[in-house]
Amino acid sequence: MPTPRKPERARPPVSALAARRLGRIHHVALIVRSIEKSVPLYRDLLGLALETVMDIPSDGVRIAFLGVGESKVELVEPTDDSTGVARFLANRGEGFHHVCFEVANLAEELTRLGIDGVELIDSSPRRGAEGPVAFLHPRSCHGVLIELIEAPGGPAWRGLGYPAS
Ligand code: ZN
Repeated sequence: MPTPRKPERARPPVSALAARRLGRIHHVALIVRSIEKSVPLYRDLLGLALETVMDIPSDGVRIAFLGVGESKVELVEPTDDSTGVARFLANRGEGFHHVCFEVANLAEELTRLGIDGVELIDSSPRRGAEGPVAFLHPRSCHGVLIELIEAPGGPAWRGLGYPAS
């Protein structure tokens, strides 16, 4: 008997994402004291690919994205003591912060979730480092902070002024 071939893994089209609501896990975000000190674990010891390191002064953070499979790990280092992530680090220490799922149409998902009684931190898509994003409140999500990001090419990209690619 021939060994069955594993199907090739390909990114589903946006329409398929809509049918099954959530696409891939886009990233998992971890709060760290220092990007510089935590990157060596993920890049050198665990072998993830370092994609970007950037400062986001408006959010008071420095972030790094490392690729793993179809997903990423986001390291978040607070650079401003007055932010929520800085308080998170002070109160709970380093560790898991949020999970981000990809959706086809973010505004539609937010409307649907709002109607279904999910508490939204962002009631409409806003600019994130990697695309339009919105957060759902942990109170509505069994203690987990959930972020949703719109898949590239979705309607919020143009609305928020991302360059067409
Ligand atoms: Zn995130």
